[in-house]
Parts: sequence; C-alpha cells; structure tokens
Amino acid sequence: MDEHKKMPKTLYGMKPNEILGALGLEKTFQGKQVYKWLVRGVSSFEEMTDLPKPLRFRLGEAMPRLASSEVVDEQTDSSGATKLAIQLIDGAVVECVLLTDKEDRKTACLSSQVGCAMGCTFCRTGTMGLVRNLQAFEIIEQFVHLRRIAPDTTHIVFMGMGEPMANFAEVIQAINYLHDPAGFDIGLRRITISTCGLIPGILQLAEINLPVKLAVSLVTADNAQRTELMPVNKAYPLEELKSALLHYQHVVGKRFTLEYVMLHNYNTGLQSARKLAAFIRGLDVIVNLIPWNPAAELDWETPDGKEIAAFTRELDLLGVPYTRRFSRGRGVNGACGQLAVPKNVCDSNL
Ligand code: SF4
Repeated sequence: MDEHKKMPKTLYGMKPNEILGALGLEKTFQGKQVYKWLVRGVSSFEEMTDLPKPLRFRLGEAMPRLASSEVVDEQTDSSGATKLAIQLIDGAVVECVLLTDKEDRKTACLSSQVGCAMGCTFCRTGTMGLVRNLQAFEIIEQFVHLRRIAPDTTHIVFMGMGEPMANFAEVIQAINYLHDPAGFDIGLRRITISTCGLIPGILQLAEINLPVKLAVSLVTADNAQRTELMPVNKAYPLEELKSALLHYQHVVGKRFTLEYVMLHNYNTGLQSARKLAAFIRGLDVIVNLIPWNPAAELDWETPDGKEIAAFTRELDLLGVPYTRRFSRGRGVNGACGQLAVPKNVCDSNL
C-alpha cells in the first residue's frame, strides 16, 4: 500500500475493484475481502481478520473510520421502533428509523435528503425546507447503521426525510449497491420508493423499469384540497398524476400503493371516499390509510376510531382496496411524517 495515498472519506458505495484502487491494495482479492467485511457490518480494519495484520494496522492508522457518518443519537419507543440521528461529514444531521412489524419483519426507513423542499403541510420534515441532497454513500450508510442494530433487516422504504424523486440518481445508485447479491442482497421487490407525486421521477422510474415498489402520497383526491396540503399539486395536479400513474402501470405492470394520510374532519368524509374511488378507477392500486401522526408544530388532528371506521365502511361499499397502517415509531417521532431535525442543527456546518 502507498503510505502517502489519500484515503477516501468512506468505503460504502464502492465495488470491490474500486475499494482496491481507493486503498491502494496490492492483491486483487483483497478488494473483495474488504467488501465482504463491510457487508458483515464491521466498523474498523482491525476486525477484518483475513487481512494480514500489518496491513490492517496501516489501513486503520490511515483511515480510523470506514464510514463518513456517525450515529449521534438513538431512541427506541414501546413499539420497538428505533430512530437514529446520524451526523454527516459536513455536520448536517439526518434521521432514519428501524421499524419492526407484527411478523417481526425489519424495515429500514431511509432518508434521501436533509430536510425537504416539498412543503407538505401535514409533515414535520416539510417545515425544515431543503438543506441538501444526500449522496448515495450517505443513504447507504444509514442502512449500515440501522443494520448494526438489526442484522436481519430485509426491507427498505424511502419514506424518511426528503423526496426521493428529487434526488433520483443518488437514490437509484444506493439501491443498486444495496441490492448487489454479493453484498447486502436486498431484493428489489423489498425496496419501496415513496413520492409525493413528482411526475418526472415516476416517469423516470418507469423508463429504467427497476422492479422496486412505488408508493405515491395521494392524501386526497380533491384537487383544491391537495393543492392546499401539498404544493406539488400546483405543478402536477391530479389529472396529470393519474396519467403518469397509468403510464407507469402500463410499462411496469405492477400494483402500487397510494398513501392516504387521514386528517381529522378534512379528508375523511363520504365525499372524500367517493373522490378517492373515482381517482383509482383504472389503476391497480392498494390504498394505505395512515391516520395522521401528531407533530407539535402542526395544527392537524388525528381522526378518531369512529371517523376512521365510517371512512373505511364507505371505502368497502365503493370497492376501494385498502390497508390500515398501524403507526409505529410515534414514541420517538419516527413515524411517517414526523422526522425533523431542528434547522439550526442541519445548517450548523454548511
Ligand atoms: S411528506 Fe415527504 S415530500 Fe412531503 S414534505 Fe414530507 S418528506 Fe417532503
């Protein structure tokens, strides 16, 4: 190894041959060895026991940390959800969450941006504005940190901070890395990209025909309401969104999800149910009902059980296929729409 070689800021996101070059390793197979250890979740060269000891020592001296980011806070609530605050190389902080469902399936909820420019009025992240896009390695490292807590994590959802379609190239790069069968080997069908309805991203996803799952935050099928709730609807109103979804469905041929955040006395009436039924006509979808997760700085309210039951009864009558998401992570502000880092933390070192 060249002693004076400049070391990379992270090894995550690199293929074995890139690791080989970045570390200046002499033997070709050592790139693969290091890659395998990264996937096993080690945090130092010292733990890579099949590398010669002097090499481990030299690498460890030159690069004490394998990742560019570090966990600065960890909180777990009674539902078993764990939220991590991760400090990035420039001091910005991003959050991600590990969720465990009834079947004990572990899902990593990852962020694609620090903050978000989309400004959805029911979402805490939306109050932060956009700080910056994440690079692919910063997305991957969130998964790495979460997987240290739960090595049996099998699923990924891009439902953390940010709009993944607004950072499309880096998100896709991270997905391809995490999917590598010789690496983390996360099946593409176990990865979900969630968007607020950025049509160019939906069309791009159709174009590359990557068989990940798509989720679209609909929230309401009424244009005026949706514009009020989600500024994205001004640029991409419901008719255009539906055309894009029909195209996506035609190309990809897979069922997708419409997320419906339920807001007390706003989008839970019978009219809302009927508009939803009309919107999904011709689409092969399942509607995911998410009673709003409270956020102190926002004025919305969570619908009560009776209100939810009346809405779902109407959906049953109208033949709308739906599921109810039971909110996990509320206890650590880690449920859907609750992630946010105080802006002064994000801006601190930029
Ligand atoms: S719901 Fe998603 S797209 Fe909308 S502001 Fe929140 S993070 Fe951004």
